[in-house]
Amino acid sequence: MAKKQQDALLKTILRDDVQALSAYLVPDSGGLIKLDAMENPYGLPEGAQNVLANAIKGVPLNRYPDPNYRMLKQVLRETQAIDLAIPLDNILLGNGSDELISMLCVACARDNAVVLAPSPSFVMYEMSAKLAGMQFVGVPLKLDFSLDISAMLALIVAYRPALLFLAYPNNPTGNLFARSDIEILLEAMDGIGVVVIDEAYYHFAQQTWFSRLSEFPHLIVMRTVSKLGLAGIRLGFMAGALMSEFNKVRPPYNVNRLTEAAALALLPLAGVWQEQIDAILSERAEVLRELQGWSDYGLEVFDSAANFLLLRLPVLTDVEADPADFFCQICRTQGVLIKNLSKMPSLQRCIRVTIGSRAENQVFVELLSRHLLSSRLGRPV
Ligand SMILES: *Cc1c(COP(=O)(O)O)cnc(C)c1O
Repeated sequence: MAKKQQDALLKTILRDDVQALSAYLVPDSGGLIKLDAMENPYGLPEGAQNVLANAIKGVPLNRYPDPNYRMLKQVLRETQAIDLAIPLDNILLGNGSDELISMLCVACARDNAVVLAPSPSFVMYEMSAKLAGMQFVGVPLKLDFSLDISAMLALIVAYRPALLFLAYPNNPTGNLFARSDIEILLEAMDGIGVVVIDEAYYHFAQQTWFSRLSEFPHLIVMRTVSKLGLAGIRLGFMAGALMSEFNKVRPPYNVNRLTEAAALALLPLAGVWQEQIDAILSERAEVLRELQGWSDYGLEVFDSAANFLLLRLPVLTDVEADPADFFCQICRTQGVLIKNLSKMPSLQRCIRVTIGSRAENQVFVELLSRHLLSSRLGRPV
């Protein structure tokens, strides 16, 4: 088919909103220091690699997975500090929590249905809502990144959202919203819609709403093993009283046997995970401390409950470009990937950097320090 004919065909069959979309951009990262995607920088230690190899060896790949994933759910419940009183039927697994977000939207996409979420927050809430045909309403956070409760309450009344997403801690700002604020929203959403608390960074924040599930039938708590150190296996889970309904939109066998086997083998290695989490937390404190030393140069560093830091760069007097664009480009040419957030609402001049290994963090801190020094002196890095 000629290119022109192909374009014409796509124009007639694709939804207008899909045509207008640009795909989620994931930069090529070969050989680069990857501080852009909140991955755990440490690979599996050799002992754990052997445990994994042994577990994978015998997996019957000719068979579909257990359709109910009973063993996997049990291991998640036991290893992820989930209340054992939560029945397995109230837990739903996804091919990453991205798939769970999408399933929630698909299930709730009645005519004119609305998804509400703070803004800025995790971009997939808006993306999934729109792809499911729902309207997305973002509520700007306050300047200190706390929830604007009065604005949210007014919008809950006005739109009666089917879903309210709250990332806890929030991505990309890194803060935990006040529990009392979330309780107000849970109360306001009662009888209106479902509140989804996305605890993707639970392992670093150690704060959870799992223990409150029995109080709120319209609450769903979502987690993932991605940020813990298993982003490659794609496994997320959510729990709540409404799971039997959402289970209807789950593609059968959505979690594959290799993922299942890897999770069953690796999640029980509590010591390995605790050591890596502790290392990331101590690195986070160290990088925070180092960067706070640059406040005289106009660098703003926000405290974080996750495995990344949000930074606001100073205004540059000697460069026309957006300061975040400019610095991300410097990092890129030096082989370091970070996330530019300067186009997001309330995040002018902001970047997000994942906490990596000591060596990786040193490279980043050094790049930023050199940049700040040279900007002030008015000469290029
Ligand atoms: C990274 C992230 C996710 C995605 O997790 P996956 O399980 O890898 O799909 C979900 N929510 C938030 C807030 C995240 O930051």
